Amino acid sequence: MAATRLKTLIIGGGIGGLTTALALARRGLPVHVIEKAQDFGEIGAGLQLAPNAMQVLDELGIVPELAKHAVFPSRLVWMDALAMQPITAIDVGEKFRGHFGQPYLVMHRSDLLNVLLEACKTEKLIMLEAGREMIAVEDAGDHARAKLADGSVLDADVLIGADGLWSRVRRFIVDDAPVGVGYVAYRGTIPIEKMSSHAGLDNVVMWVGPGMHFVQYPIRRGELYNQVAVFRSPSYVPGSDDWGGPEELDAHFAQTCDYVRDCAKLMWRDKRWPMFDRNPIGTWARNRIALMGDAAHPMLQYIAQGACQAIEDAMSLAKHLAEGRSDPTAALVAYQEARKLHTARVQLTSRAMGAFFHLDGIAAQVRQQIVGKRAADDFSMIDWLYGHRV
Ligand SMILES: Cc1cc2nc3c(=O)[nH]c(=O)nc-3n(C[C@H](O)[C@H](O)[C@H](O)COP(=O)(O)OP(=O)(O)OC[C@H]3O[C@@H](n4cnc5c(N)ncnc54)[C@H](O)[C@@H]3O)c2cc1C
Repeated sequence: MAATRLKTLIIGGGIGGLTTALALARRGLPVHVIEKAQDFGEIGAGLQLAPNAMQVLDELGIVPELAKHAVFPSRLVWMDALAMQPITAIDVGEKFRGHFGQPYLVMHRSDLLNVLLEACKTEKLIMLEAGREMIAVEDAGDHARAKLADGSVLDADVLIGADGLWSRVRRFIVDDAPVGVGYVAYRGTIPIEKMSSHAGLDNVVMWVGPGMHFVQYPIRRGELYNQVAVFRSPSYVPGSDDWGGPEELDAHFAQTCDYVRDCAKLMWRDKRWPMFDRNPIGTWARNRIALMGDAAHPMLQYIAQGACQAIEDAMSLAKHLAEGRSDPTAALVAYQEARKLHTARVQLTSRAMGAFFHLDGIAAQVRQQIVGKRAADDFSMIDWLYGHRV
């Protein structure tokens, strides 16, 4: 039996879980976070944070701390990875900041997690526990119950599943599975002095080509250069893990211009990230249990919004739970209703943009025609996303 009943229990201490904890505590709500890894931390490299997420982080008061570790790029540039020609760009300088009221920022994901963690540690209302894995959840009507791998049981008025793409909490709400797309990502960071200045080192550069794209930007105050190489594996077999190896990375990038091919050789080779998302769902909550972040709406990372949407969820959850203290079940449904259509649109747009990046031949020429003439300070295509406010 559980000893005492917690107010809010968050399963998962990633970007989504910690942002939710902070947002709840800032509204006076006590929260308990369990994380299955031995330490709170992030694997991977860079992260782009758009104004829609920056608005939330600003409300939480952590932007000055984030700025100490971040880079504020001047442009998001699309390049043709074969012809080495610019396709289009978005200026993210002064006019962009004025338009959206917030900057565009790139940083190391572990720097973001550390800032969130330190902010959580200063909150008396937050209890953080690493090395504790949830293995089952139960709906007990007016509360929820989590069973942990160490045999203990936690009861809570509200349980939030912030446990990512492979969420166990989600299994409790919907019977579905991640959707594999046959693409794989390789990541890597290198000291900035090892890069040539070819790509414009203060920009976020996205090289696109047939069945591939390649992203580059500086992180950690400009000391490191972050790269992500994504391609369609010819040997993809659903359900298998034996595909998309480093030899396929080299073979796929052999078609690109010399610069991209040389940069792709610098990727980490000991780890790869097969790409998955899930189909959007309309139910995220059941009684006192709800999903957030990748557990609710995992998306392909092609428009760099997965963490941004998790950050938006965090603020939405906190607002609804604070305003609906007397009826948490209704508050969770209100949160789900406020978020589900917008995040579904982001999920579907991520898929569509992936298809758009990866075009070949005449279709790629049509793509260039469609976006090639837009002005770099025309933000109309991204207003719905970067201008969205929780
Ligand atoms: C290559 C790549 C690049 C990306 N780039 C960007 C970008 O530029 N911008 C952006 O916004 N997004 C980006 N994303 C997406 C982003 O990384 C995710 O959307 C984000 O990390 C989701 O956060 P989360 O907290 O919901 O889930 P996660 O980060 O997956 O965190 C879940 C946490 O729950 C813990 N957990 C899981 N199960 C249990 C359990 N049973 N018990 C206890 N703890 C558990 C896990 O250990 C983990 O710490 C990218 C993704 C990839 C793959």
